[in-house]
Amino acid sequence: MRRFTEDSLIVATHNAGKLTEIRELLAPFAIKVTGAADHGLPEPEETGTTFVENARIKAQAAVAATGLPALADDSGIEIDALGGAPGVYTADWAETPNGRDFPMAMQRTYDALCESGVASPWTARFCCTFVLAWPDGHDEVFAGRMEGQISWPPRGDQGHGYDPIFQPRGKDLTFGEMALADKNRISHRADAFRKLRAIFPDAT
Ligand code: IMP
Repeated sequence: MRRFTEDSLIVATHNAGKLTEIRELLAPFAIKVTGAADHGLPEPEETGTTFVENARIKAQAAVAATGLPALADDSGIEIDALGGAPGVYTADWAETPNGRDFPMAMQRTYDALCESGVASPWTARFCCTFVLAWPDGHDEVFAGRMEGQISWPPRGDQGHGYDPIFQPRGKDLTFGEMALADKNRISHRADAFRKLRAIFPDAT
């Protein structure tokens, strides 16, 4: 695994929440972290069919535009009874002409599960994949996941997206009912973060 020894890194996202989260993660490493907006980068089309492909598209687009190393992530939920859907299309399932509608996306998920004829428990996992790409073409991939099951009806108003219908393994609460700090300790993103941390030279 290649270590990261450069002094600056672009986080190839237009999502301010993600940028803040990753900045916090990288705070101990004395690396100058900038976001896609700081470089006027457009949002590339996510044409991949896997989380790695989409994260790589975003990271490589930022590298190509700036000549600097870049980090990007892609995430979503895979439901076994739906053959892994919505997967890389998790955000697309919430799209409407007026923006993203997650109550609608959760209903759509439940309807698809009922139509599948598969009995619950409906096993599922949240996935998060980071790709760190260097200007010489090399990249490193860090994949995190949290196993659990789909729970219906939705419960809780913490978190975002599909959190109210995801019950992590071993917990009675959905992600939507958990305090954010508790979710962030066990989430797919935390799992990927832990792996990513290891490539910075003075990581403990
Ligand atoms: P992207 O990684 O920004 O493309 O987002 C993928 C989709 O997965 C979004 O629609 C998110 O709402 C959903 N998603 C990713 N992580 C989580 C999570 O922790 N909770 C709920 N939804 C999530």
